Amino acid sequence: MSQRKGRVVGINGNLVTVEFDESVRQNEVAYVATGDVRLIAEVIRVRGRYADAQVFEDTSGIKVGDRVDFEDQLLSVELGPGLLAKVYDGLQNPLPEIAEQCGFFLPRGLYLEALPRDVKWTFTPTAEVGRPVRAGGRLGTVPEGIFEHWVMAPFDLEARHELVELAPAGDYTVADEIAVLQDGEGRRRSVTMMQRWPVKRPIRAYDERLGPSEQLVTKMRLIDTFFPVAKGGTYCIPGPFGAGKTVLQQLTSRHADADIVVIAACGERAGEVVETLREFPVLVDPRTGRSLMERTVIICNTSSMPVAAREASVYTAVTIAEYYRQMGLNVLLLADSTSRWAQALREVSGRLEEIPGEEAFPAYLESVIASFYERAGIVRLGDGDVGSVTIGGTVSPAGGDFEEPVTQSTLKVVGAFHGLSRARSDARRYPAIDPLESWSKYSSIVPADALARAKDVLAKGHEVQEMMKVVEEEGTSMADFVTYLKAEYVDAVYLQQDAFDPVDGATPAERQREVFGFISGVLDERMDFESKDEARGFFQRLTQTTRDWNRAEMESEEFARIRTRLDEMLAEVAGKEVVSRA
Ligand code: ADP
Ligand code: MG
Repeated sequence: MSQRKGRVVGINGNLVTVEFDESVRQNEVAYVATGDVRLIAEVIRVRGRYADAQVFEDTSGIKVGDRVDFEDQLLSVELGPGLLAKVYDGLQNPLPEIAEQCGFFLPRGLYLEALPRDVKWTFTPTAEVGRPVRAGGRLGTVPEGIFEHWVMAPFDLEARHELVELAPAGDYTVADEIAVLQDGEGRRRSVTMMQRWPVKRPIRAYDERLGPSEQLVTKMRLIDTFFPVAKGGTYCIPGPFGAGKTVLQQLTSRHADADIVVIAACGERAGEVVETLREFPVLVDPRTGRSLMERTVIICNTSSMPVAAREASVYTAVTIAEYYRQMGLNVLLLADSTSRWAQALREVSGRLEEIPGEEAFPAYLESVIASFYERAGIVRLGDGDVGSVTIGGTVSPAGGDFEEPVTQSTLKVVGAFHGLSRARSDARRYPAIDPLESWSKYSSIVPADALARAKDVLAKGHEVQEMMKVVEEEGTSMADFVTYLKAEYVDAVYLQQDAFDPVDGATPAERQREVFGFISGVLDERMDFESKDEARGFFQRLTQTTRDWNRAEMESEEFARIRTRLDEMLAEVAGKEVVSRA
């Protein structure tokens, strides 16, 4: 086989310019041979006889004249049983020791097989020999963790094929042939449990895309009730450094109603990714009581890895998410932080000397971000099953300024916005999602009219609070003061949630409906008090009792008892006419 070659003629950071002899394809993989290592790169621009390739590794030592080998493939990942519980780098190198040793990264130029070749999986055939097969068609299953992992016909199958051979039940490795397909011209294709797929191309082996309708319950009240996320939907969590983006994503991966969680971790600060890797294996999956890692795949990059690897990691993660969607599962992809990825785009664009857009980000930033989030979605598969990929990305704008290009480009395409506020995190009001700035296009688990009234109280309460800074409490009418206290009450007992309390930390949808129902009753109640102190005293007691309620198991007697007590407290102040004392 004659391999296409080239020579390095220029080096600019992670970008090498290569002069080639024959032809080169956009996005194809190339290896730069330097010293005794071969470093993986991706062709990102072809001009005449020159190709620019981004190297996914440290480029030190690369010299003009070094040989470049072009591979006839796009940057791809391996898909098959064995992905769950793995920690990979952006190029899908498994980092097995990393969870224990933390800080272990592969030596430069060493690439490992993503799926173990020696593990045997117990295959049960389900398809019928002699029947037609199409891309993504189900051939059989193997157990993987708590799931039945579907072994599927290759996603790139174009013409109609017939299943001519299928392995009998038994134990096979991902490299063993388990089926043979044949097309109309009699051409045969051997199928294993593993297939490769180019990361920048969405997997589309489904019948139709559906509109997101069902909610992805996260058990976080501020999200599910106020700013919901739909299965197959998208959302964005921008927030300044330290406002709680990473903690929020961890809570979501633990409690959200998803089968599988894929995490693309691009560290914000040094050590952050290492923390994620250390923490995840010890997080308990509330569903199984076992390690959360068993239904998680982590793709990680540390800040010490070359920026190009971050770009790869985002695509690797979404491709793995799409793969499990093809099995009819609900997958949640969390990318933390997408700003790091955007910075990588900016660096590469700068080296390519492209015409810069706003803040030196490439002009195509928006379309790159949009096409990433477009890979989310809920789909109907060939056999009628439905699967989904939900994407949540954090953004870390410098100085917490949401006007910057990455936040703005993301907000144009996502379905929900959970903006974290520095003021809230400073006040330790967690989760620090700003109830006045955030929004969602998806429908809530509570009635829309009651929700609108609650949001209205929050907005008015905030206005009163601002006004009181000027006119003080004496200058505030009783009606306004009560509105302010009501807003503080909703915040204290509903928006804020104690992540460390086993009950309060995760509120199921049914419980949110009940608690929100009571709280709506409080907000709708016209109440009057003799004095502001009396009003404050009442809301203090109500807040304390509601907090106790939040910590009681829903099935317990205590839960019912506190509910009765709350109803009584509310009845005591109910029905009084509001008297303005401004
Ligand atoms: P970011 O990723 O936005 O930089 P982190 O998620 O790392 O911020 O959060 C910073 C710190 O804030 C955490 O280490 C933790 O002490 C605190 N924190 C954030 N969210 C919560 C929460 N929901 N409950 C309690 N503490 C939190
Ligand atoms: Mg973080």
